[in-house]
Amino acid sequence: MNRFYLLILAALASCAPAKRLPKKETGTTKPKNVVLMVGDGMGLAQLSLTQSAADYVLAIFEWFKVIGLSETASANDYITDSAAGATAFSTGSRTNNGMISVAPDSSALKTIAEEASEQGKSTGLLATCSITHATPAAFFAHQPSRKMNKEIAGDMYASGIDVFMGGGWPYFDSSRLVASGFAVKHGLDAFTGANEPKVAGFYSHAEHPPKMSEGRGNYLAPASVKMLELLNRNKTGFFAMIEGSQIDWGGHANDAAYLIEETKDFDKAVRAVLEWAKKDGQTLVIVTADHETGGLTMPQPAKPGTLPKAHFSTGDHSGIQVPVFAWGPGAEQFMGVYKNTDIYRKMKALMGH
Ligand code: MG
Ligand code: ZN
Repeated sequence: MNRFYLLILAALASCAPAKRLPKKETGTTKPKNVVLMVGDGMGLAQLSLTQSAADYVLAIFEWFKVIGLSETASANDYITDSAAGATAFSTGSRTNNGMISVAPDSSALKTIAEEASEQGKSTGLLATCSITHATPAAFFAHQPSRKMNKEIAGDMYASGIDVFMGGGWPYFDSSRLVASGFAVKHGLDAFTGANEPKVAGFYSHAEHPPKMSEGRGNYLAPASVKMLELLNRNKTGFFAMIEGSQIDWGGHANDAAYLIEETKDFDKAVRAVLEWAKKDGQTLVIVTADHETGGLTMPQPAKPGTLPKAHFSTGDHSGIQVPVFAWGPGAEQFMGVYKNTDIYRKMKALMGH
């Protein structure tokens, strides 16, 4: 053995065995609050198309430095639907398409919102569709089919959810909501004026709030901030899910203008939530999608005064990975390429004691 190797051996021997660093030294700070924002059907192409059509930088492109990719498959299909997609990040388990936070054998899977409630945190849900629709449903209901709107609504009463707003009025029993402790608010103004411990907000008495192009107005951003303020009264913290629901519907319709208006509205809510979280300093904000919708590409960007050229390859979802953006305490955990179910695991680890 020559001198060179002896030197190397001596150097190795002098190294102390690697010590596990305590949490603080690894740089991982646990957030008090977690806000998961879901742009349904919002892949990178949807964001790029919207950016091309906008005369400002999208908040999603301006704020986030931590970016990951989520593999969106469900238990029985490489291409997920929104029910299995939301179940994946709500429960950490993949299920079959169409199922709401139950395993393929229909047994209930515990959701991140239920776990937050058990920890004494407050929970809230907000959507631009019926609150019984697949994405929000996967955070409070356990049903074998997304089509069971009445049964999904029935799971709300004892769900532990503290604040929600969206459509879905036709599926609820107002007196049962009141008996379950909810103050029922009709319309955005009533919701933003609420101060009760538990609040059920309905955009209108229709099943879904309308499209942006049909007059929904500035609802998602102010309702988001109001929900965070209501939930933030809990000193233990909160979990909230906010959905830009109709980005997906623009994709299904292969309607670029619809998709762009809905993505802009969602991005506006993201900006409002990030500005709130920046002031708060203890809130982790995650923005992602359940899947991409439309198989969208952008052969040409927008020319002044026109929409960008959009090419859709399907009227359904695609299996392409979707971006995950994270900001705030613990955000760095969301770097890398991982399964949709890992979004649950990362949130759970950060929300644990
Ligand atoms: Mg949805
Ligand atoms: Zn869809």
